[in-house]
Amino acid sequence: MLTEPQIQRYARQLLLRDLGEKGQESLGAVRVHLALGGSLAGAAAAYLRAGGTEVERASTSPGPWASTPPLVGSPPARRLDVLAAPAAPGRSGVVVGAAAGAHVLWSIAEEGCHACLDLARRDLAPPEVRGPAGIQLGTLLAFLVQRRALGLGSPLEGIQMSREGVLSTVSAPDCIHRPPAVPGSVLAALLHHLAAALPDEGCAVLVGREDGVRLVPMENAQAAHHARDPEAFPRTARTAFSLDPRAWLTVLREADQAGERVLAIAHSHPEGPPGFSDEDRRWAAPDGQPLLPGVAHLVVAFEGGRPRSARWAVWAEGDFRESDCPLPAEHE
Ligand SMILES: [Zn+2]
Ligand SMILES: [Zn+2]
Repeated sequence: MLTEPQIQRYARQLLLRDLGEKGQESLGAVRVHLALGGSLAGAAAAYLRAGGTEVERASTSPGPWASTPPLVGSPPARRLDVLAAPAAPGRSGVVVGAAAGAHVLWSIAEEGCHACLDLARRDLAPPEVRGPAGIQLGTLLAFLVQRRALGLGSPLEGIQMSREGVLSTVSAPDCIHRPPAVPGSVLAALLHHLAAALPDEGCAVLVGREDGVRLVPMENAQAAHHARDPEAFPRTARTAFSLDPRAWLTVLREADQAGERVLAIAHSHPEGPPGFSDEDRRWAAPDGQPLLPGVAHLVVAFEGGRPRSARWAVWAEGDFRESDCPLPAEHE
């Protein structure tokens, strides 16, 4: 709850911005750690403080922007980092940089993908601004911080300001560091296909683009490989899967033509074990590097002919990370 003096102090903002009391509380519930200098930082700090957000300056000199007293009894626990490229915010915040004469700001939420932010800010230089441009950029920066404080915007969003001061949004890269979002109907079709392959391991490919995910059922080529050359392929299709190279190339070509990309390779473990096995790991990253960068793996473990669990394995920052994939209800 806001106290009476606080309400008076921010009444103007409460009325003008249509934030409401809840929005104003949200602005006061973050602490901004500002590691920037110059007119840019000054403008951002002034704007944020005027909006009711506590700002800590990383520099030793507070400059003309004296600290305002905190608005709530205890200091806000939620911290937003604001800093210059190539540094990166800890959990959440905004990074400001320059590229090709323009200024670029990336804002990330706690739940945003930091590996994607790393890609986005990789080529940014520290911002170099003076005078009026710094004030304009500082105001824009404060606006992005306020959006973050209010819980608005996508988990990772970018804005570019041209030399002439023209604003445009910058698209975040397609995230390959987290399991893709697969609709329940596609998952159900996948489980159906994998169940049909029992007692052998089944396999499939998931391809997609922004407007949807498509299942490409694949045949397990391991049986043919094993029959042809049991020495090179000692395991049968009961305990291994492999994709036929020509079929795989067809998938790649068709996805390319449709503007899709391969999101994941799925396979089953007919009698467990759940999750990405050591064998799977060796197959997916034979030399410690992923064979198919940006492609996730989905392992569905069956037990007594029924799917029991599904686990994602996604390569991010040097290793495969596993996470659960909830099974559609009708298969439980
Ligand atoms: Zn990502
Ligand atoms: Zn496996």
